[in-house]
Amino acid sequence: MLNESIALMQRATAVIPGGVNSPVRAFKAVGGNPIFFERGNGAHIYDVDGNEYIDYVGSWGPLILGHAHPKVVKAIQQIVQNGTSFGAPTRLEVEIAELITNLMPSIETIRMVNSGTEATMSAIRLARGYTGKKYLVKFDNCYHGHSDPLLVKAGSGARTLGVAGSAGVVQDLAQYTLIAPYNDLQATAHLFAEYGHDIAAVIVEPIAANNNLIMPTAAFLPGLRKLCDEHNSLLIFDEVITGFRVALGGAQELYGIAADITCLGKIVGGGMPVGAFGGRRDILAMLAPIGPVYQAGTLSGNPVAMTAGMVTLQELIAQPNCYTQLQQYSANLMQQLTQQAKQHGITITTNYISGLFGFNFVDDPDNKFFKRFFHLMLRQGVYLAPSAYEAGFVSLAHNEITLSKTIAAAQQCFALMQKTDAYALA
Ligand SMILES: *Cc1c(COP(=O)(O)O)cnc(C)c1O
Repeated sequence: MLNESIALMQRATAVIPGGVNSPVRAFKAVGGNPIFFERGNGAHIYDVDGNEYIDYVGSWGPLILGHAHPKVVKAIQQIVQNGTSFGAPTRLEVEIAELITNLMPSIETIRMVNSGTEATMSAIRLARGYTGKKYLVKFDNCYHGHSDPLLVKAGSGARTLGVAGSAGVVQDLAQYTLIAPYNDLQATAHLFAEYGHDIAAVIVEPIAANNNLIMPTAAFLPGLRKLCDEHNSLLIFDEVITGFRVALGGAQELYGIAADITCLGKIVGGGMPVGAFGGRRDILAMLAPIGPVYQAGTLSGNPVAMTAGMVTLQELIAQPNCYTQLQQYSANLMQQLTQQAKQHGITITTNYISGLFGFNFVDDPDNKFFKRFFHLMLRQGVYLAPSAYEAGFVSLAHNEITLSKTIAAAQQCFALMQKTDAYALA
Protein backbone atom coordinates (compact mmCIF):
# COMPACT_ATOMS: atom_id res chain seq x y z
CA MET A 1 0.00 0.00 0.00
CA LEU A 2 1.33 3.37 -1.00
CA ASN A 3 -1.74 5.47 -0.20
CA GLU A 4 0.06 8.08 1.85
CA SER A 5 2.95 8.41 -0.65
CA ILE A 6 0.42 8.90 -3.44
CA ALA A 7 -1.50 11.53 -1.45
CA LEU A 8 1.71 13.39 -0.59
CA MET A 9 2.86 13.33 -4.21
CA GLN A 10 -0.43 14.95 -5.21
CA ARG A 11 0.11 17.73 -2.68
CA ALA A 12 3.77 18.01 -3.63
CA THR A 13 3.17 18.53 -7.33
CA ALA A 14 0.95 21.51 -6.51
CA VAL A 15 3.71 23.36 -4.69
CA ILE A 16 7.05 21.83 -5.75
CA PRO A 17 8.13 21.55 -9.41
CA GLY A 18 7.54 17.92 -10.33
CA GLY A 19 6.84 17.24 -6.66
CA VAL A 20 10.53 16.83 -5.82
CA ASN A 21 13.59 18.81 -4.78
CA SER A 22 15.95 16.80 -6.99
CA PRO A 23 14.82 15.30 -10.30
CA VAL A 24 15.73 11.59 -10.06
CA ARG A 25 13.52 11.27 -6.97
CA ALA A 26 10.44 11.69 -9.14
CA PHE A 27 10.61 8.10 -10.52
CA LYS A 28 10.39 9.41 -14.09
CA ALA A 29 12.91 6.81 -15.24
CA VAL A 30 10.91 3.90 -13.81
CA GLY A 31 7.34 5.23 -13.77
CA GLY A 32 4.96 5.06 -10.84
CA ASN A 33 4.62 7.12 -7.70
CA PRO A 34 7.75 8.06 -5.74
CA ILE A 35 7.94 6.69 -2.21
CA PHE A 36 7.95 9.25 0.60
CA PHE A 37 10.15 8.20 3.50
CA GLU A 38 10.02 9.19 7.12
CA ARG A 39 12.55 7.06 8.94
CA GLY A 40 15.73 5.11 8.45
CA ASN A 41 17.63 2.72 10.69
CA GLY A 42 20.81 0.96 9.60
CA ALA A 43 20.22 -0.71 6.24
CA HIS A 44 16.46 -0.16 6.41
CA ILE A 45 14.14 2.69 5.50
CA TYR A 46 10.46 3.11 6.30
CA ASP A 47 7.96 4.97 4.16
CA VAL A 48 5.00 7.11 5.22
CA ASP A 49 2.68 4.10 4.79
CA GLY A 50 4.74 2.05 7.23
CA ASN A 51 6.41 -0.20 4.62
CA GLU A 52 9.95 -1.36 5.35
CA TYR A 53 12.66 -1.58 2.68
CA ILE A 54 16.28 -2.69 2.52
CA ASP A 55 17.94 0.44 1.17
CA TYR A 56 20.54 0.37 -1.61
CA VAL A 57 20.48 4.11 -2.26
CA GLY A 58 21.88 5.37 1.03
CA SER A 59 20.88 8.93 0.16
CA TRP A 60 23.02 8.49 -3.00
CA GLY A 61 26.22 7.80 -1.16
CA PRO A 62 26.69 9.69 2.10
CA LEU A 63 25.32 7.01 4.41
CA ILE A 64 28.19 4.53 4.41
CA LEU A 65 27.46 3.79 8.08
CA GLY A 66 23.76 3.23 7.38
CA HIS A 67 20.82 5.38 8.45
CA ALA A 68 20.73 7.13 11.81
CA HIS A 69 24.01 5.67 13.02
CA PRO A 70 23.88 6.06 16.83
CA LYS A 71 27.26 7.78 17.10
CA VAL A 72 26.45 10.27 14.34
CA VAL A 73 23.01 11.01 15.77
CA LYS A 74 24.36 11.50 19.29
CA ALA A 75 27.20 13.76 18.16
CA ILE A 76 24.79 15.95 16.17
CA GLN A 77 22.40 16.16 19.14
CA GLN A 78 25.21 17.26 21.40
CA ILE A 79 26.79 19.85 19.13
CA VAL A 80 23.52 21.41 18.01
CA GLN A 81 22.84 22.60 21.56
CA ASN A 82 25.74 25.01 21.19
CA GLY A 83 24.25 26.66 18.13
CA THR A 84 24.12 25.68 14.48
CA SER A 85 26.39 28.21 12.79
CA PHE A 86 28.58 31.18 13.61
CA GLY A 87 29.82 32.41 10.24
CA ALA A 88 33.18 32.53 11.96
CA PRO A 89 35.95 29.97 12.41
CA THR A 90 35.50 27.00 14.75
CA ARG A 91 37.79 24.29 16.15
CA LEU A 92 35.95 21.56 14.26
CA GLU A 93 36.88 23.02 10.88
CA VAL A 94 40.55 22.78 11.79
CA GLU A 95 40.14 19.22 13.02
CA ILE A 96 38.32 17.93 9.97
CA ALA A 97 40.81 19.65 7.63
CA GLU A 98 43.67 18.01 9.55
CA LEU A 99 41.95 14.64 9.32
CA ILE A 100 41.24 14.82 5.58
CA THR A 101 44.69 16.11 4.65
CA ASN A 102 46.10 13.12 6.58
CA LEU A 103 43.88 10.61 4.82
CA MET A 104 44.43 12.01 1.32
CA PRO A 105 48.06 13.04 0.82
CA SER A 106 47.40 14.92 -2.45
CA ILE A 107 45.21 17.29 -0.44
CA GLU A 108 47.57 19.70 1.32
CA THR A 109 44.96 22.31 2.10
CA ILE A 110 41.21 22.08 1.83
CA ARG A 111 38.15 24.29 1.88
CA MET A 112 34.70 23.16 3.00
CA VAL A 113 31.55 24.04 1.06
CA ASN A 114 27.93 22.89 1.25
CA SER A 115 27.53 20.45 -1.64
CA GLY A 116 29.39 18.49 -4.26
CA THR A 117 28.14 20.94 -6.86
CA GLU A 118 29.78 23.80 -5.01
CA ALA A 119 33.01 21.83 -4.71
CA THR A 120 33.34 21.12 -8.45
CA MET A 121 32.14 24.58 -9.46
CA SER A 122 34.74 26.19 -7.20
CA ALA A 123 37.48 23.76 -8.24
CA ILE A 124 37.01 24.78 -11.85
CA ARG A 125 37.12 28.48 -11.07
CA LEU A 126 40.26 27.84 -9.06
CA ALA A 127 41.87 25.86 -11.90
CA ARG A 128 41.10 28.64 -14.35
CA GLY A 129 42.36 31.27 -11.94
CA TYR A 130 45.56 29.35 -11.28
CA THR A 131 46.42 28.46 -14.88
CA GLY A 132 44.99 31.55 -16.55
CA LYS A 133 43.50 29.16 -19.15
CA LYS A 134 39.88 28.76 -20.10
CA TYR A 135 39.00 25.31 -21.46
CA LEU A 136 37.83 22.42 -19.36
CA VAL A 137 37.85 18.75 -20.39
CA LYS A 138 35.16 16.48 -19.00
CA PHE A 139 33.95 13.03 -19.92
CA ASP A 140 30.71 11.64 -21.19
CA ASN A 141 28.75 9.90 -18.48
CA CYS A 142 30.48 11.71 -15.65
CA TYR A 143 28.29 13.85 -13.40
CA HIS A 144 29.92 16.69 -11.56
CA GLY A 145 26.94 18.49 -10.09
CA HIS A 146 24.77 21.04 -11.81
CA SER A 147 26.85 24.17 -12.30
CA ASP A 148 26.69 25.58 -15.84
CA PRO A 149 30.05 24.49 -17.27
CA LEU A 150 29.55 20.94 -15.99
CA LEU A 151 26.10 20.34 -17.42
CA VAL A 152 27.56 20.13 -20.86
CA LYS A 153 27.30 16.93 -22.88
CA ALA A 154 28.94 15.78 -26.10
CA GLY A 155 27.49 17.06 -29.31
CA SER A 156 26.90 14.70 -32.19
CA GLY A 157 30.46 14.85 -33.46
CA ALA A 158 32.99 12.42 -32.01
CA ARG A 159 35.19 15.23 -30.81
CA THR A 160 33.40 18.49 -30.43
CA LEU A 161 32.98 21.70 -28.61
CA GLY A 162 30.50 21.48 -25.79
CA VAL A 163 26.80 21.65 -26.41
CA ALA A 164 24.75 22.68 -23.40
CA GLY A 165 22.91 19.77 -21.79
CA SER A 166 20.37 21.96 -20.04
CA ALA A 167 18.18 24.85 -21.03
CA GLY A 168 19.40 27.99 -19.34
CA VAL A 169 23.09 27.26 -19.87
CA VAL A 170 24.41 29.99 -22.13
CA GLN A 171 26.06 28.47 -25.20
CA ASP A 172 28.86 31.03 -25.03
CA LEU A 173 29.89 29.53 -21.70
CA ALA A 174 29.26 25.91 -22.66
CA GLN A 175 31.71 26.19 -25.54
CA TYR A 176 34.63 26.13 -23.12
CA THR A 177 33.76 22.63 -21.94
CA LEU A 178 35.34 19.98 -24.16
CA ILE A 179 34.04 16.43 -24.06
CA ALA A 180 35.68 13.05 -24.56
CA PRO A 181 34.30 9.55 -23.97
CA TYR A 182 35.23 8.04 -20.58
CA ASN A 183 38.29 5.76 -20.77
CA ASP A 184 39.18 7.18 -24.19
CA LEU A 185 42.72 8.50 -23.88
CA GLN A 186 43.09 8.94 -27.60
CA ALA A 187 40.11 11.28 -27.84
CA THR A 188 41.46 13.18 -24.83
CA ALA A 189 44.87 13.44 -26.48
CA HIS A 190 43.18 14.85 -29.58
CA LEU A 191 41.55 17.55 -27.50
CA PHE A 192 44.93 18.40 -26.02
CA ALA A 193 46.51 18.45 -29.47
CA GLU A 194 44.01 21.04 -30.54
CA TYR A 195 43.33 23.08 -27.39
CA GLY A 196 46.21 22.03 -25.09
CA HIS A 197 47.69 25.50 -24.76
CA ASP A 198 44.42 26.74 -23.27
CA ILE A 199 43.11 23.81 -21.19
CA ALA A 200 42.87 24.79 -17.53
CA ALA A 201 41.86 21.39 -16.23
CA VAL A 202 40.62 17.89 -16.84
CA ILE A 203 37.84 16.91 -14.43
CA VAL A 204 37.06 13.22 -14.04
CA GLU A 205 35.39 10.74 -11.73
CA PRO A 206 38.27 8.33 -11.15
CA ILE A 207 35.61 5.62 -10.98
CA ALA A 208 32.53 6.64 -12.95
CA ALA A 209 29.62 6.08 -10.59
CA ASN A 210 27.00 8.25 -12.23
CA ASN A 211 26.30 6.09 -15.25
CA ASN A 212 25.68 2.81 -13.56
CA LEU A 213 29.27 1.91 -12.59
CA ILE A 214 32.24 2.13 -14.96
CA MET A 215 35.77 1.28 -13.84
CA PRO A 216 38.71 3.17 -15.35
CA THR A 217 40.98 1.16 -17.65
CA ALA A 218 44.51 0.68 -16.31
CA ALA A 219 45.89 3.28 -18.72
CA PHE A 220 43.21 5.94 -18.32
CA LEU A 221 44.06 7.82 -15.13
CA PRO A 222 47.88 7.63 -15.57
CA GLY A 223 47.34 8.82 -19.15
CA LEU A 224 45.30 11.82 -17.96
CA ARG A 225 47.96 12.64 -15.38
CA LYS A 226 50.59 12.62 -18.12
CA LEU A 227 48.57 14.74 -20.56
CA CYS A 228 47.89 17.33 -17.85
CA ASP A 229 51.56 17.43 -16.84
CA GLU A 230 52.71 17.84 -20.43
CA HIS A 231 50.37 20.76 -21.01
CA ASN A 232 50.51 22.49 -17.62
CA SER A 233 46.84 21.69 -17.06
CA LEU A 234 45.43 20.61 -13.72
CA LEU A 235 43.95 17.19 -13.04
CA ILE A 236 40.78 17.42 -10.94
CA PHE A 237 39.48 14.21 -9.42
CA ASP A 238 35.81 14.39 -8.57
CA GLU A 239 35.77 12.00 -5.63
CA VAL A 240 32.40 13.18 -4.34
CA ILE A 241 31.20 9.56 -4.50
CA THR A 242 34.47 7.61 -4.32
CA GLY A 243 36.10 9.63 -1.52
CA PHE A 244 36.04 7.49 1.67
CA ARG A 245 33.83 4.97 -0.15
CA VAL A 246 36.35 2.85 -2.04
CA ALA A 247 39.23 3.51 0.38
CA LEU A 248 40.00 6.05 3.12
CA GLY A 249 42.24 7.80 0.60
CA GLY A 250 39.64 7.56 -2.16
CA ALA A 251 40.14 6.18 -5.67
CA GLN A 252 43.43 8.06 -5.89
CA GLU A 253 44.80 5.79 -3.17
CA LEU A 254 43.64 2.67 -5.03
CA TYR A 255 45.17 3.73 -8.33
CA GLY A 256 48.19 5.59 -6.95
CA ILE A 257 47.55 8.80 -8.90
CA ALA A 258 47.77 12.19 -7.23
CA ALA A 259 45.24 14.77 -8.37
CA ASP A 260 46.05 18.47 -8.32
CA ILE A 261 42.60 19.27 -6.94
CA THR A 262 40.19 16.77 -5.37
CA CYS A 263 36.48 17.37 -4.89
CA LEU A 264 34.68 15.71 -2.02
CA GLY A 265 31.08 15.50 -0.85
CA LYS A 266 28.56 12.91 0.29
CA ILE A 267 30.41 10.79 2.93
CA VAL A 268 32.47 13.78 4.08
CA GLY A 269 29.23 15.29 5.40
CA GLY A 270 27.96 12.13 7.07
CA GLY A 271 24.44 12.84 5.79
CA MET A 272 24.52 16.61 6.25
CA PRO A 273 24.93 19.02 3.29
CA VAL A 274 28.71 19.23 2.83
CA GLY A 275 31.23 19.36 0.03
CA ALA A 276 34.92 20.19 -0.03
CA PHE A 277 37.71 20.84 -2.46
CA GLY A 278 41.39 20.64 -1.73
CA GLY A 279 44.75 19.88 -3.26
CA ARG A 280 48.17 21.34 -3.81
CA ARG A 281 49.00 24.13 -1.41
CA ASP A 282 50.21 26.50 -4.13
CA ILE A 283 46.98 26.04 -6.08
CA LEU A 284 44.66 26.49 -3.10
CA ALA A 285 46.67 29.58 -2.16
CA MET A 286 44.97 31.28 -5.11
CA LEU A 287 41.73 31.37 -3.09
CA ALA A 288 40.45 34.45 -1.31
CA PRO A 289 41.40 35.78 1.22
CA ILE A 290 45.04 35.04 0.27
CA GLY A 291 44.58 34.94 -3.49
CA PRO A 292 42.47 36.50 -6.25
CA VAL A 293 39.98 33.63 -6.84
CA TYR A 294 36.81 34.44 -4.94
CA GLN A 295 34.86 31.72 -3.12
CA ALA A 296 32.75 31.93 0.03
CA GLY A 297 29.85 30.39 1.97
CA THR A 298 27.59 31.61 4.78
CA LEU A 299 27.11 28.14 6.25
CA SER A 300 30.37 26.58 5.05
CA GLY A 301 32.08 24.53 7.76
CA ASN A 302 29.20 24.88 10.20
CA PRO A 303 29.62 22.79 13.34
CA VAL A 304 26.62 20.51 12.83
CA ALA A 305 27.72 19.41 9.36
CA MET A 306 31.37 19.16 10.39
CA THR A 307 30.42 16.97 13.33
CA ALA A 308 28.42 14.55 11.19
CA GLY A 309 31.32 14.29 8.75
CA MET A 310 33.97 14.01 11.43
CA VAL A 311 32.21 11.23 13.33
CA THR A 312 31.56 9.33 10.10
CA LEU A 313 35.22 9.52 9.08
CA GLN A 314 36.39 8.55 12.56
CA GLU A 315 34.08 5.55 12.52
CA LEU A 316 35.54 4.42 9.17
CA ILE A 317 39.07 4.86 10.51
CA ALA A 318 38.15 2.80 13.56
CA GLN A 319 37.07 -0.12 11.36
CA PRO A 320 40.17 -0.96 9.33
CA ASN A 321 38.43 -3.86 7.59
CA CYS A 322 35.40 -1.88 6.53
CA TYR A 323 36.35 -1.62 2.84
CA THR A 324 37.03 -5.36 2.61
CA GLN A 325 33.68 -5.93 4.25
CA LEU A 326 31.90 -3.65 1.76
CA GLN A 327 33.74 -5.27 -1.12
CA GLN A 328 32.72 -8.76 0.01
CA TYR A 329 29.13 -7.72 0.38
CA SER A 330 28.97 -6.11 -3.07
CA ALA A 331 30.75 -9.08 -4.65
CA ASN A 332 28.34 -11.57 -3.05
CA LEU A 333 25.35 -9.49 -3.98
CA MET A 334 26.35 -9.13 -7.61
CA GLN A 335 27.47 -12.76 -7.99
CA GLN A 336 24.28 -14.13 -6.50
CA LEU A 337 22.14 -11.73 -8.48
CA THR A 338 23.85 -12.84 -11.69
CA GLN A 339 23.27 -16.51 -10.80
CA GLN A 340 19.64 -16.02 -9.89
CA ALA A 341 19.00 -14.14 -13.10
CA LYS A 342 20.74 -16.83 -15.12
CA GLN A 343 18.63 -19.57 -13.55
CA HIS A 344 15.62 -17.75 -14.89
CA GLY A 345 17.04 -17.29 -18.35
CA ILE A 346 17.89 -13.62 -17.80
CA THR A 347 21.36 -12.21 -18.45
CA ILE A 348 22.78 -9.36 -16.43
CA THR A 349 26.25 -7.85 -16.32
CA THR A 350 27.63 -6.39 -13.11
CA ASN A 351 30.40 -4.21 -11.76
CA TYR A 352 31.34 -3.55 -8.18
CA ILE A 353 34.03 -2.04 -6.04
CA SER A 354 33.84 -1.63 -2.30
CA GLY A 355 30.40 -0.33 -1.34
CA LEU A 356 29.46 0.50 -4.93
CA PHE A 357 27.76 -1.73 -7.44
CA GLY A 358 26.06 -1.58 -10.82
CA PHE A 359 24.07 -4.12 -12.81
CA ASN A 360 22.66 -4.06 -16.31
CA PHE A 361 20.14 -6.24 -18.07
CA VAL A 362 21.60 -7.35 -21.37
CA ASP A 363 19.47 -6.53 -24.43
CA ASP A 364 17.19 -4.23 -22.51
CA PRO A 365 16.00 -1.52 -24.87
CA ASP A 366 14.16 1.29 -23.06
CA ASN A 367 15.17 -0.35 -19.78
CA LYS A 368 12.02 -2.47 -19.79
CA PHE A 369 13.56 -5.23 -17.69
CA PHE A 370 15.08 -2.78 -15.29
CA LYS A 371 11.78 -0.96 -14.73
CA ARG A 372 9.94 -4.21 -14.14
CA PHE A 373 12.67 -5.49 -11.82
CA PHE A 374 12.77 -2.21 -9.92
CA HIS A 375 9.03 -2.26 -9.20
CA LEU A 376 8.93 -5.97 -8.35
CA MET A 377 11.84 -5.50 -5.93
CA LEU A 378 10.09 -2.52 -4.39
CA ARG A 379 7.07 -4.72 -3.69
CA GLN A 380 9.42 -7.24 -2.11
CA GLY A 381 10.79 -4.55 0.19
CA VAL A 382 14.05 -3.71 -1.58
CA TYR A 383 14.67 -0.08 -2.51
CA LEU A 384 17.01 0.25 -5.51
CA ALA A 385 17.95 3.49 -7.24
CA PRO A 386 14.96 4.48 -9.40
CA SER A 387 17.03 4.61 -12.60
CA ALA A 388 19.05 2.09 -14.58
CA TYR A 389 21.88 4.61 -14.79
CA GLU A 390 22.62 5.04 -11.11
CA ALA A 391 25.10 3.06 -9.07
CA GLY A 392 23.92 1.10 -6.04
CA PHE A 393 25.25 1.73 -2.55
CA VAL A 394 25.98 -0.75 0.21
CA SER A 395 26.54 0.43 3.78
CA LEU A 396 28.32 -1.10 6.75
CA ALA A 397 24.87 -1.70 8.24
CA HIS A 398 24.07 -4.24 5.51
CA ASN A 399 24.84 -7.80 6.57
CA GLU A 400 24.30 -11.48 5.74
CA ILE A 401 20.63 -11.26 6.66
CA THR A 402 19.88 -8.27 4.44
CA LEU A 403 21.93 -9.97 1.71
CA SER A 404 19.98 -13.23 1.78
CA LYS A 405 16.67 -11.34 1.97
CA THR A 406 17.70 -9.29 -1.06
CA ILE A 407 18.68 -12.38 -3.03
CA ALA A 408 15.49 -14.20 -2.09
CA ALA A 409 13.51 -11.17 -3.25
CA ALA A 410 15.45 -11.04 -6.52
CA GLN A 411 14.77 -14.73 -7.10
CA GLN A 412 11.02 -14.12 -6.82
CA CYS A 413 11.24 -11.13 -9.14
CA PHE A 414 13.25 -12.95 -11.80
CA ALA A 415 10.75 -15.83 -11.66
CA LEU A 416 7.88 -13.41 -12.25
CA MET A 417 9.74 -11.65 -15.04
CA GLN A 418 10.44 -14.97 -16.72
CA LYS A 419 6.76 -15.91 -16.64
CA THR A 420 5.58 -12.65 -18.11
CA ASP A 421 5.78 -13.00 -21.87
CA ALA A 422 6.53 -9.35 -22.43
CA TYR A 423 9.69 -9.62 -20.37
CA ALA A 424 10.81 -13.14 -21.21
CA LEU A 425 14.08 -13.38 -23.02
CA ALA A 426 14.23 -15.40 -26.20
C1 LIG B 1 26.61 13.76 -6.23
C2 LIG B 1 27.77 14.18 -7.05
C3 LIG B 1 28.07 15.52 -7.26
C4 LIG B 1 27.17 16.63 -6.80
O1 LIG B 1 27.05 16.67 -5.42
P1 LIG B 1 25.76 17.43 -4.78
O2 LIG B 1 26.04 17.39 -3.31
O3 LIG B 1 24.57 16.63 -5.20
O4 LIG B 1 25.75 18.79 -5.34
C5 LIG B 1 29.23 15.84 -7.93
N1 LIG B 1 30.04 14.88 -8.40
C6 LIG B 1 29.78 13.57 -8.24
C7 LIG B 1 30.75 12.55 -8.75
C8 LIG B 1 28.62 13.18 -7.58
O5 LIG B 1 28.33 11.89 -7.46
